[in-house]
Amino acid sequence: MAVNYDKYEIVVGLEVHAQLLTQTKLFCGDSASFGGEPNTHVSAITLGHPGTLPKLSKKAVEYAVKMGLACHCEIERHNYFARKNYFYPDLPKGYQITQHTTPICKGGFVVIKTANGDKNILLNRIHLEEDAGKSLHDVDEKNTSIDYNRAGVPLIEIVTEPCLQSSDEAFLYLTELRKILRYTEVCDGNMEEGSMRCDANVSIRLKGEKKLGTKVEVKNLNSIRNVKRAIEFETKRLIELVENGGNVTQETRSFDANNGTTFSMRTKEDANDYRYFADPDLTPFNITDIFLEEIKKTIPALPEELIAKYTSVLMLPEYDARVICDDKETSDFFEKIIKQTTNYKAAANWLIGPIKSYLNENSLLIKDFSVSAETLAQLIQLVDEGKVNFSVASTKILPELIKDKNANPLEVATALNLVQSSDTSEVLIWVEEALAKMPDKVAEYKKGKKGLIGLFVGEVKRISKGKADPKLTNEILLQKLNS
Ligand code: ADP
Ligand code: MG
Repeated sequence: MAVNYDKYEIVVGLEVHAQLLTQTKLFCGDSASFGGEPNTHVSAITLGHPGTLPKLSKKAVEYAVKMGLACHCEIERHNYFARKNYFYPDLPKGYQITQHTTPICKGGFVVIKTANGDKNILLNRIHLEEDAGKSLHDVDEKNTSIDYNRAGVPLIEIVTEPCLQSSDEAFLYLTELRKILRYTEVCDGNMEEGSMRCDANVSIRLKGEKKLGTKVEVKNLNSIRNVKRAIEFETKRLIELVENGGNVTQETRSFDANNGTTFSMRTKEDANDYRYFADPDLTPFNITDIFLEEIKKTIPALPEELIAKYTSVLMLPEYDARVICDDKETSDFFEKIIKQTTNYKAAANWLIGPIKSYLNENSLLIKDFSVSAETLAQLIQLVDEGKVNFSVASTKILPELIKDKNANPLEVATALNLVQSSDTSEVLIWVEEALAKMPDKVAEYKKGKKGLIGLFVGEVKRISKGKADPKLTNEILLQKLNS
């Protein structure tokens, strides 16, 4: 029987855990940095020894609120932590400290650009919680080893409503979300190292149906691309299952990146198995107006806002604006350049074109780029003044500026004999030489084959080794040919 995929639509909700870039853990002064020798960031508090008391990190609260504000959430003023009780070897206390009924951020949204226009991906909440340790199954053949360095590292969990309608939307949302995490500098967004992790909840229903179908949750997705692949696989699997008369059971599945499939890990426990209760060791905490105002001041201009500014104020094409805002280092650099020049389009062209290619070819990041915004602005001016053309500037001068960060564009151009001649008599000599070489073409031109002008311009360029000012070349050529 042929499976009719078109009858169904998919519904996706994503849960993202993001490790906060605080120096210390959520409830003690142990280092929260990634890695380190196993079990070296582990005080008695991290290990949950009896008699120890947790103390809340203000920085972690600040970062959670910062992310919430960046995602247009409502901030919960009266917060408390709860214990989520379960047994697992990587959880030494036997419970995880998390937020239960009062997530620190509620509602909010992230805007994505789909093929059908902008769409707001609605957030249900963002809450604060502590991370668990790490079970290592490949250190020892027979035993599982546990590294508690990660235990207690602050996390925010960002939960969407079940409002994503395709794997593409999931991809776009995660890309945008990661950008916001990085712009606000609350998380490094590194999915391979696990500082940003995503679980995908997927269900299907008949088109037009309002009620949600039973969901499955897919874990172990270590890249945005794999989230997309997993959703695609699940969609197909669930539809085929239902079309063949089966029932979807609520379960947790794991993604196998090698073959793009998922397999069942466990059927889902009920939420009330966790026996949440308010943690008696931690007093409730309030977010004051003053604290909130302080945090607001630390939020930089975000991609959404920058793109709007670049397209409507600087009149850049949307594509340019988006590429520049892909990461904060690039848009920060762009901001610096446009303080030095008003030729915004040229600034964008340099960044998206030659600079980006140079960085890509050498596997470098924009922060490794040594040419200053001032120097780049001088280079832009040199082109604007007609002293060098863009191609010479990008292929000959830029490499010299990269080699020597104290070099000056005009000096480099002069030293390499690249400065274009705007000297009429000099250009005239080149033009005459060019025309003298092709008398029959000149005759054809005069008979009406005006397209030949390009050929003459090219010849002048060749003879002058690119030094003839193109505009002047054109003028003189036309004068000569039409006389
Ligand atoms: P759980 O208690 O199982 O974690 P939640 O209600 O907290 O479930 O939802 C977790 C995530 O699953 C949220 O992102 C939510 O949007 C999503 N979700 C819930 N129900 C569905 C469904 N039927 N289909 C797809 N996603 C869903
Ligand atoms: Mg869940």
